[in-house]
Amino acid sequence: MTQHCCEAMTRQTNWHCDQHPDPFDCPDALIHFTAKFQEYGLIIHDGGTSTIGIEFCPWCGQRLPESQRDRWFEGLESHEIDPWADGIPVDFQDGRWLRTDAIAPTQTPPANNF
Ligand SMILES: [Zn+2]
Ligand SMILES: [Zn+2]
Repeated sequence: MTQHCCEAMTRQTNWHCDQHPDPFDCPDALIHFTAKFQEYGLIIHDGGTSTIGIEFCPWCGQRLPESQRDRWFEGLESHEIDPWADGIPVDFQDGRWLRTDAIAPTQTPPANNF
């Protein structure tokens, strides 16, 4: 689960409506969160799946985390994965890749001070 800035945002990003399984069909759904890119968007109810990216939370005013879209592509690239040819690995289909150390920059092993 991704931590969001406030309760209102968490509720919106986990939107669930019995009448509209797809939030894009639900007039009450306001926010679409793309976990794999960590991108927040305002849902535009024009019958399609358009969103407008937002940088600040409409409820608490906090700056939202930066989009990880570029890093996502870099991560795939570093694995030599072509998303169009090879498909997208499960870890990259949602926010999980952010928590795997698979693509984290090479870490220096902690110095042994003993
Ligand atoms: Zn908020
Ligand atoms: Zn609804």
